Order: sequence, then structure tokens, then C-alpha cells
Amino acid sequence: MELTLQSPLQQVPGIGTIREPLLRKLKLVTIGDLLRHRPRRHEDRRHPTPISQAVKGQSMLVRGTLTAHGVNRFKQGRKSVYEFVLDDGTGRLHCRYWNLPYLEDHFAVGMDVFAYGAISGGKPVTMDHPEYEVVTADDDAPLHLNRIVPVHRLTEGLSGRWLRALIWRLLESVRIAPDPLERMACDHFSTSLPTQFRRLHFPDSMEHVESARRFFALSEFLHLQRGFADRRQAFRARAAGHSCSGDNRLIRPLLRNLGFALTEAQKRVLREIRSDLGHRYPMRRLLHGDVGAGKTVVAACAALMSIESGYSVALMAPTEILAEQHFRRLAGWFASLGIRVELLTGKLKESTGPGTADVPTMTVGTHALVHDGYQPDDLGLVIIDEQHRFGVVQRDKLVRKGWYPHLLVMTATPIPRTLGLAAYGDLEISVLDEIPARRGRVRTFLRTSDDTSRIWSFVAGQLAAGRQAYVVFPRIDEDDSPAGLKSVIEEHDRLSGLLKPHSIGLLHGRMPSADCRQVMDSFCQNKIQALVATTVIEVGLDVPNATVMVIGNAGQYGLSQLHQLRGRIGRGTGDSYCILVEDSRKTDAVERLKVLMRSNDGFEIAEEDMRLRGVGDFLGTRQSGMPKFRFADLLQDADLLQLARRLVEANPPQPKPLANRPR
Ligand code: ADP
Ligand code: MG
Repeated sequence: MELTLQSPLQQVPGIGTIREPLLRKLKLVTIGDLLRHRPRRHEDRRHPTPISQAVKGQSMLVRGTLTAHGVNRFKQGRKSVYEFVLDDGTGRLHCRYWNLPYLEDHFAVGMDVFAYGAISGGKPVTMDHPEYEVVTADDDAPLHLNRIVPVHRLTEGLSGRWLRALIWRLLESVRIAPDPLERMACDHFSTSLPTQFRRLHFPDSMEHVESARRFFALSEFLHLQRGFADRRQAFRARAAGHSCSGDNRLIRPLLRNLGFALTEAQKRVLREIRSDLGHRYPMRRLLHGDVGAGKTVVAACAALMSIESGYSVALMAPTEILAEQHFRRLAGWFASLGIRVELLTGKLKESTGPGTADVPTMTVGTHALVHDGYQPDDLGLVIIDEQHRFGVVQRDKLVRKGWYPHLLVMTATPIPRTLGLAAYGDLEISVLDEIPARRGRVRTFLRTSDDTSRIWSFVAGQLAAGRQAYVVFPRIDEDDSPAGLKSVIEEHDRLSGLLKPHSIGLLHGRMPSADCRQVMDSFCQNKIQALVATTVIEVGLDVPNATVMVIGNAGQYGLSQLHQLRGRIGRGTGDSYCILVEDSRKTDAVERLKVLMRSNDGFEIAEEDMRLRGVGDFLGTRQSGMPKFRFADLLQDADLLQLARRLVEANPPQPKPLANRPR
């Protein structure tokens, strides 16, 4: 019988009923699974390190002859250490194993042994619990000696030698045919699947190991992207949307009255959106744009396309403050166009424009939109601002209020571009990669609380010059944990005295929304010159005259969050100043904050944040749906992820034949 990658391991001669369950424990069921079992590491057995060159703390591979061994027992025989000594002609290595006395039976004086581990002591040269392999003069010897050998993850009862020999044998005998996606990867790398399997397990050089890893990483990404593409195709076949591309009659006057010209990036993204809205299947698009890139006006134009076509629009924002700001801005823009604009938050309901129920309406709100009160019957487009603040569930609930409405989700920099391709593969992606001109520079400084008086006199100077400032602290009041962090209520009191005669406002998430609103209004109108706030101001706010931001206990926040916060300034024409205050001298904290001093590019910052914190930590629980990869690394292989997306787009899935369709 011919064996293929799909054949169950059971059918492989020599595996038997004892080893098959052990392989299953490693989740290896088919031959393909086994050949894709990635070695943990490779050992270059052509060049073991001479024992005389041992360096404490470093890992190394040694080959030597066993010259002595034995077990020492202590604590009345309850504890033991087994030790053997290897001699390679340059020195002696002591290998020690605690509480594994039975090891003694595996070894004998005169054996030829490889040991791999970290040197734990220098006199005598010692390794604790090294990995070992005894060289035996069997037929397989050439597999295990004088070459780079794979070291695989094992389980109790399986030996590395046995598994290595099995893989070798399968590589010789199995018919290896790539699946269509692996074929794409083969074409791209001009290689063959058997070659890559061989390089993965029995490479001629360490470069082979890496090239094989990248080959299999690409095929993982191809599978991921193909999965997304299939889901998109199924969705499009199933879902029939409204044609909402509009006729420009409302957009044209809006753009005339805006007071600025759209950037090329904004125009490009609007073309992408218009083309989506014209399809008979609903748009599912993510708009990625750094803070200040001008996403709101793009959202407004997209909304007008839908309204021109006779369909209502819902815009959901994560905070009441932001929802209100959007409401104000859109009401202002849309007033002369005769469009009804509504605000719907947990506590507020307000509207402007014509009151009739049968005209398309622009509704702006918080997650209150998800609840029962909001029941549009002509929903054409759903827009989610700062979408990383919402769960997919909330997003879908809002979408389900309509009959397959179009969906535009917008986000600043919560995740790097490459992760976006892996996490948001169900969405088409538009990028606003241009910040509108005319902006002043934002300069960022790192200070400690020793500089406090200088910081406040600088702020006072800016306020006296007619500018406004945000001052951010992590806690609301002294009762909040964790202790040791500054609270806005206390600091507000202090600064109100310190910054006299300027008027200082307070804003945090536990204030009644009417109060929040009043404070925000006063700040927008420059009746309040400085705003002491928690991170409620993090997203979306747009007050161009505010050019100073002081962030206390800055080390508390993630880099991307700090970048978002900092995005509140630098919106006017003058220069802006962001002052990060952090007392911790820990180098990693300082290192992190320095990234912000170097860069103003949200994508770069997010990537740096991810590099410093690790992909898992960076994503936290929010993106736990992120796929796991065996070979691919989202940081290192960003290029491959993009390549996979391109390759899959260039090779669309074949439509399934409609076989046996009843007549
Ligand atoms: P974000 O992408 O962070 O949501 P906003 O939509 O709040 O950014 O826009 C930031 C500021 O830039 C707003 O004051 C907006 O009116 C202004 N703006 C947007 N587009 C342009 C443009 N093309 N030229 C000049 N200013 C613009
Ligand atoms: Mg915004």
C-alpha cells in the first residue's frame, strides 16, 4: 500500500499499537502531522564543543567517552544524585541528575555519549540534567552522527533516536504531494515539499533550518488567509446588501464647506468605500488610521453616501464624551444639508434636523445603540469608531438591527498592521497613511516628579499664551487601588491653586454625564483652560487649541495608549508639548517611554510595543481569537503574512461545483 501524507500513522510498519498512542499524545495522527512536527532545536553533531572551552552559563553540545558513573544517596536514601563523567580528550564533563537513580542502568563505562545543556559549574565542569544520547553502532548511525540532527519534542516512552529514524524512513518512502496552498508556497520559493521536509528535519546547514521554517510559516499564513477568503466568499454569497454608493448630491456641498481639502489618502479610502457600498453584498471594512489622520470626515462622507441612497446610518463610539463630540460635529456639518442627526447614549437623547420618521437619519451613540431603544427600519451603514474598544459581540448586535447593513470599523493604532492581517482577516483593510498638513509638531519629554515645579510653570506659561492643556492621572480618587498613583480629584485641587487665575476643569468616568458634558463644552469653548482627567479623554477628542499634555505616572500605561492620549494634542497649527512624568528608574520602563520620544508614528509605536511586551501580552485577552502558529512568528514574518494575503487574493478560491442539485 502506498503511504501518503494523509495516511494514518497506524498504517506505518513498525509503529505498532504501543507507540501509536504515544504519538497521538503529541497530536501526531497522520504521516503529514509527523513530518510537520517541528524540531525543538537542531544539534550540529559535526562540531561538538571541546570541554576545555566550556563557559559557565552557556549551552553547548559535548561528545565524549563515559569514564565513570554512579549514584550518591542522601537524606536516608530519599534523595539521590546520579552522575556520569565524559572525557573528550580536552577535559572532563560531569553530568548530574537529581532523583533519577534508575538512569544508572542506562549507562556503562566506555559508552560514546552526546550531552547538551548549560554549563552550571566550572570546577569541575558540570552540567545539570543535560539532554543526552548514547551513540550506538546500528544501521541508523549515519542519521544521528556527523550531521545536524533534529531534536524533537517527545513524550515518555518515545526516544529521540527512534522518532528521528522514523521520520527519516518516511521521508524516503512516502509519496509527498503538497496541498494547493503548499504548492503556492513551493512555487513562490521555487522549491519542493520533500526538499523542505528534509531541510526541516535533516538540514545540511543552519540556514536550511531557517529557510524551511519560513517555507512552513508561509504555508500556515496561506491557510489562514484562505480560511478568511472562504468565509468572505460564503458571506458574500449569502448576504444581500443595499446598494448605498449615493450620488454625491450631499457630499459635494459638505466638502465645499469643510474649510480644508481632503488628503489624497482620505480620497483614496473614500473611493474604496464607495466601491464597496455599491456591491450587492455588504461591505466589511476596517479603516486603519493613526490618531489625527482624519477618520471622522471619512466616516461622515461614508454616512452621506448611505443617506443619499435613502438609508439611515448608525455611528457607535466607545465613550459618551466622544459620542457627543461626533454628534456636535456631524450636526454642524449636516445642518445645512437638511439631515436629521440624533444622539443616543445611556442617559441622553437629543436630535437636530427634520423630525419626520421616514427620512434617513444619522444616529450617533454609545453602546446604548445596541439596546432596545434604537430600532431603525432602514439601516444602510453601521460605523464603529475606535472599534478596538468594543467586542465583536456588540458590533454584531448593532449590525443585526438592520438587514445586512454595510459595516465600517475604524481604529487608530491598537494593533500593528501585520497583526491586523492575522486578526482582522475577515475585513477588507483601508489605511489612512497620511496626516493632514498644517499641523504643528508634537514634542515629547520625559521627566520625573523632581521637575514638578518647572513643569507647572511651563504649563502656566502656555496657558497665559492662550493655549489649553490636558493633565492626565491614573486614578479618580485616593480610594482607588493601586496605591502610590496620583488621583485626579486631589491633583485637580492642587492645580486649581497652582495655576491661578486660569480655570481648571475635572473629568472622570464617575461623574454624571451632564457634568461631563458641561466640562467638555467649557473646555471646547476655552472657558476652562486646563482639564485634569483620567484616560476618559484617551479616544477621539478634538480640541485644536489644546497643545499641552502632562501625563502623570506615565509608566502605568501601554505605549499605544500613551500614543492615543498624546493624539489629543498637535491638532492645531502651533507646536504641542507632551510631558511624560515617571519616577521609576527601571530601564525597561524608561526604554518604553523613550520610544514615544523617538516616534510619532502610531504603527511604529504599536510594533515596538509588541516587540517589548511580546505578542501574547500585547494582545492580552482582547484578541484571544488570534490563531496559534507552529512555524510562523507574527513579528519576524510580517512580510510573509502580507505575501500570503496577496497570493490568496491573486488565486481566489474555486467556487464549489453544484453537484447533484435536485431539479
Ligand atoms: P482621527 O483620525 O484621530 O479620528 P479626526 O477625524 O478627529 O482624527 O481629525 C483630526 C482633525 O483633523 C480634526 O480637527 C479634523 O477636522 C481635521 N482634519 C481632518 N481631515 C483634514 C484634512 N484633510 N485637512 C486638514 N484637517 C483635517
Ligand atoms: Mg477619531
